[in-house]
Amino acid sequence: MPLILDGKKVRGEIAKTLRRKVEAFSPKPKLAIVQVGTNKESSAYVRQKKKFGESIGVLVDYLKAPEFITESELILKLKELNADSSVSGIIVQLPLPSALSVEKTINAIDPEKDVDGLTAVNEQLFKEGKPRFIPATARGIIELLEWYHLPLFDAKVAVLGRSKLVGAPTALLLKKKGALVTVCHSKTPNTKTITRRSDIIIVAIGKPKLITAEYIRRNRTQTVIDVGINARTEVGEAKLLEEIPRSVIVGDVDFDEVKDKVAAISPVPGGVGPMTVAALFENVVSAYEMQTVPV
Ligand code: NAD
Repeated sequence: MPLILDGKKVRGEIAKTLRRKVEAFSPKPKLAIVQVGTNKESSAYVRQKKKFGESIGVLVDYLKAPEFITESELILKLKELNADSSVSGIIVQLPLPSALSVEKTINAIDPEKDVDGLTAVNEQLFKEGKPRFIPATARGIIELLEWYHLPLFDAKVAVLGRSKLVGAPTALLLKKKGALVTVCHSKTPNTKTITRRSDIIIVAIGKPKLITAEYIRRNRTQTVIDVGINARTEVGEAKLLEEIPRSVIVGDVDFDEVKDKVAAISPVPGGVGPMTVAALFENVVSAYEMQTVPV
């Protein structure tokens, strides 16, 4: 069996550290999560974030906006949260209904409260090597690899997917750690050659079980990080991400086919998902500290 990179376990360890920090804070940090509409998957994600936040003593306001809220109404709501000094961090749960511009909405968040690190200002700071908030999934992936002491310096890493949310920031962080990164996208012609010669393969493409044994070198030396979360059927009434049955959620990697050919692999669920939640709250705690510690 390969080493299973257990994001739930690592999240538990991060929670202990965060809980100790938050215990000393008064008033408590607060995260506002804005969800537009009633997408069941999004609701399960948000409840998961709320549960984790509250478990470490952070206040979490779950604000539900109606599906047909206008862009200006949504932006006004975000401006109110920006002005509310009790709110340390703000996130807008994606995806948004197609009538709303993600860019305009996200950029309405005060960069000092943008704990997802997605505003243009924070993206630029991150690119310049002065990150204020590292996007949570990218931060979670690196923390998972580092927790298991998987070396990044000089490692050959293939990052499949180049989205602003996951692939691009993950590739950038890895480069800063000294990894030799190759980014592949949907039109890359020789992805299998690239993945086979890599030490670490990070998959964030949103294609259920696309990565099969063909993408893997056969000597059980590689590490595979599966970021994908794909619902095969309707998510149903799961209250939390972790309650969505394994039969419903699959990753981008065919876990059963790949697991015996690699040295280490992150499962779905239970790998990157929990790390993303933990990393988000690391950002919330940093936001609180930046806002309260006099400079
Ligand atoms: P996206 O659709 O924005 O981007 C997908 C990227 O994959 C694109 O850059 C595309 O070019 C690339 N791609 C598509 N097919 C490819 C292929 N065959 N080979 C190489 N690249 C290919 O998606 P996203 O927001 O980056 O999310 C990716 C996946 O990660 C989704 O399943 C999403 O649900 C999941 N996700 C998980 C977490 C988590 O916490 N675990 C967080 C965010 C997203």
